[in-house]
Amino acid sequence: MVYKRIFPFFLIIFFSACIEQGEFSRTEFALGTVCTVTLYEQGKNSLYNDIFSRIREIENLMSLNISSSDISRINSNAGIKPVSVHENTFKVIERAVYFAQLSGGAFDPAIGPIVSLWGISGDNPRCPSQEEIDKILPLVNWRNIELDANANSVFLTQHGMSLDLGAIAKGYAADAAAEILKNAGIKRGLVDLGGNIIVIGEKKDKSPWRVGIQNPYGNRRDFFGIVHTDEKTIVTSGIYERNFEEDGRFFHHLFSPFDGYPADNGLISVTVIMDISMEADALSTAAFVLGYEKGLFLIESIPGVEAIFVFNDRSVQVTKGVEFTITDNTFFFR
Ligand code: FAD
Ligand code: MG
Repeated sequence: MVYKRIFPFFLIIFFSACIEQGEFSRTEFALGTVCTVTLYEQGKNSLYNDIFSRIREIENLMSLNISSSDISRINSNAGIKPVSVHENTFKVIERAVYFAQLSGGAFDPAIGPIVSLWGISGDNPRCPSQEEIDKILPLVNWRNIELDANANSVFLTQHGMSLDLGAIAKGYAADAAAEILKNAGIKRGLVDLGGNIIVIGEKKDKSPWRVGIQNPYGNRRDFFGIVHTDEKTIVTSGIYERNFEEDGRFFHHLFSPFDGYPADNGLISVTVIMDISMEADALSTAAFVLGYEKGLFLIESIPGVEAIFVFNDRSVQVTKGVEFTITDNTFFFR
């Protein structure tokens, strides 16, 4: 088995030409990934400290790898009892359930048992047997997440269920970082939490931000095209992020909750561009799992949401409102 784990990873999206004079940024490892915040002016240490403390606060609430986190407590009480959680955690789970419903279950925060079975987040991923998948797949069902907004409590009704917010909580953390930046009056900035990008404000010359999109077949920081955008979040889900090969077959971390296997539909990445990073995070994963036609239908059903779909033949399809330039001529528009 060949396991290709890009860890830690660096700048899923590379800001090629958007760096202005006077850049000052801080990079720290958090949320299992590389997090970079760039403030083009007023980059005070205290502000960076506030932003990274907030990111760590969210990690402490929502990480699967921290035994005292809200998510770990919810999971260890699956089938036993509801667990009261921090309002931040409750909000993310509530939105996750919303997007699960909206995507017809393609995005499912109860994906935990399948992610653990494949071991995709650990050092020894493997392709499980059909029998193993069949046994645990019924546990993956967002409908069995009970929320009580009065008590801020969450109950997984079946023993063995588990939540995994890996496809949505980075987006929430990016929004939280951007909010601190905006509240501090920062006029220009960039937040990149392992591929969840937010550009804040406008460039001095008022030209659009130019954000490079990771080449799914390239090395880290190889980009194949550039999005031209104003103040937005740009979030990508791709097969290149966590993957492994076994017996000549390639497996990645974006699972179909319908069959328990990595989604295999010809897509290699989906980028979503909109205003809220948490929502873009959920939607990029949802659209990937749904595949192009259904994913496009979902994206187009929500006002203000744009997307870039990249296929395994290197063809690219964008929604109407995206200004995107291909810079690597091995890729082409469909
Ligand atoms: P996304 O497409 O946004 O999400 C994919 C991830 O979501 C998968 O890896 C899986 O976990 C889950 N998923 C797969 N299929 C579905 C589906 N159909 N519906 C819903 N979810 C699905 N990684 C570490 O290695 N170590 C850590 O300590 C660690 N801590 C973390 C703490 C937090 C709070 C968060 C949010 C993440 C953490 N991670 C950690 C995970 C990691 O940083 C990324 O979240 C992960 O690699 C996926 O992000 P992505 O943007 O690449 O893909
Ligand atoms: Mg996501």
